[in-house]
Amino acid sequence: MALRRPMIAGNWKMNGSGTLANELFRKFTSKLKNDSAEIVLCPPTIYLESVRQQLETTKDSLNGSLVRMGAQNVSQHDFGAYTGEISAKMLKEAGCNYVIVGHSERRRMYGETSDIVAEKFAAAQKSGLTPILCVGESGPAREARRTFEVIAEELDIVIEKNGTMAFDNAIIAYEPLWAVGTGKSATPEQAQEVHAFIRKRLSEVSPFIGENVRILYGGSVTPSNAADLFAQPDVDGGLIGGVSLNSTEFLSLCKIAMSA
Ligand code: PEP
Repeated sequence: MALRRPMIAGNWKMNGSGTLANELFRKFTSKLKNDSAEIVLCPPTIYLESVRQQLETTKDSLNGSLVRMGAQNVSQHDFGAYTGEISAKMLKEAGCNYVIVGHSERRRMYGETSDIVAEKFAAAQKSGLTPILCVGESGPAREARRTFEVIAEELDIVIEKNGTMAFDNAIIAYEPLWAVGTGKSATPEQAQEVHAFIRKRLSEVSPFIGENVRILYGGSVTPSNAADLFAQPDVDGGLIGGVSLNSTEFLSLCKIAMSA
């Protein structure tokens, strides 16, 4: 049986502040006591430095808890004339360990195709970042019973470009579009069904990767539905949007993941 450490990753989106970083770390240092879950904060790029400073100044008082930093997006290019973009190497230098790639908001609003997402995944890994790859179906796709087809398509393009073994250093987040930011979470059974599908697809090529890759659920996770979601055998924690901006509720999610 694989030992997959649960993860809670907070995606602040275009929200938050340096003050939120202070507040979160105050809670982490006083309330977290062990490393049974990994916590990742993904603030807007401008606040990476505030989070990095908090990580630096609290490192001896985190009581062994595991807190890391991630970015919300990365360029697929190494450098050059790409105004407004940030390279994986720059994020690594800023102190990131992780980067979210293929979030549905980027696919939907900024025209990121699965090919671009696969390139971003590769760029992240090349610079030593672990990509958190988001996949998920729309409401109409689910209604048309095309969930597995959409997930397979999004996953397969990344596998074709990077190989299954690349998932040795990657996290997958299943984020149904109809659940992200809507207040309507997937049921634990719906999440488990898709997570098991993803794990099986990777296992077909590498049973090791299939068993060990961490698959997060994202989409309207709150302290009241998290325990049931995280208790599913193939759900290894959550990618959290709205609730990651409330330090008390985010801490509750961390604690739930720690006891999952
Ligand atoms: C997200 O943006 O990745 C997300 C899951 O948002 P929310 O938790 O607000 O649904």
